Order: sequence, then C-alpha cells, then structure tokens
Amino acid sequence: MLLISIINKKMSKQSRQTRQKSILQMEIDNFQSFFTAEDLYDKPAVKDDKIGIATVYRFLKELKKNNSIHSYLCNRKTVYSISEKNHCHFSCQHCGNITHISINSIDFLKKNLKGDICHFQINIEGICNACKKAG
Ligand SMILES: [Zn+2]
Ligand SMILES: [Zn+2]
Ligand SMILES: [Zn+2]
Repeated sequence: MLLISIINKKMSKQSRQTRQKSILQMEIDNFQSFFTAEDLYDKPAVKDDKIGIATVYRFLKELKKNNSIHSYLCNRKTVYSISEKNHCHFSCQHCGNITHISINSIDFLKKNLKGDICHFQINIEGICNACKKAG
C-alpha cells in the first residue's frame, strides 16, 4: 500500500514536470521573435498551470544547453529566440538611444572562424540621425 502511494506520488510528479515542459515548449514555439523569461512566465497557459519563474528559468537554461534556443543580451536583459539567428544593436554615443537592426547574413565572417556559428550578436556604436541633425 505504502509502496503504491510512493510510486503514484513519483509518477504524478514526473507527469507534472512533463506537462509543464510541454506547455513551456508550446508557448516558446509561438513566439515570433525575441522574448524574455518574464514574457514566457506571463503567458496565460503558464499562469494557469502555476508554473513558477524558477521552472521557467530552468527550462530555458536546459534548452540553451541543448542548443535549441539562442540567447542574447539586450538592454541588460537576456532575450531568447528559437528562430532569430542574430541580434544587432545600433547605439548612439550621444543620446544612448538603442535601435535594433537586422542583418541577413554574416557569411563573410565564416572564413575567419575556426568553428561553427550558432548565432551572433553585434553592437554598433555611432551617432543617430536625430543627434546629427541637432548638431
Ligand atoms: Zn545560438
Ligand atoms: Zn536588443
Ligand atoms: Zn542620438
């Protein structure tokens, strides 16, 4: 009797973890672009299942380790993506304004690398048009 209840407990814990993982994976697959751990945590399905922020972080860490997700640093926050392979910023040295730019290919860099590219993050600094106009 005791053994059965222990097994049941163990099984229900496993299935809860499995269910939580599939909910998180489903929501991640729905993101069209970059998202943060908080964005994922705020999804109604994640809330409904009472999935904690620690579980969300753990799952994202696991995906990162398996190379099934890319992560970037954006405005001192970690952002994730399953589809985007690059994250590029143009920061103005005068006003500090940061804009995102898209670059389609960095194939020209490949020949200089001794390894495989997973994704890339580029920070470009300069003076924005608004500051240029203001002189
Ligand atoms: Zn990557
Ligand atoms: Zn960014
Ligand atoms: Zn500026």
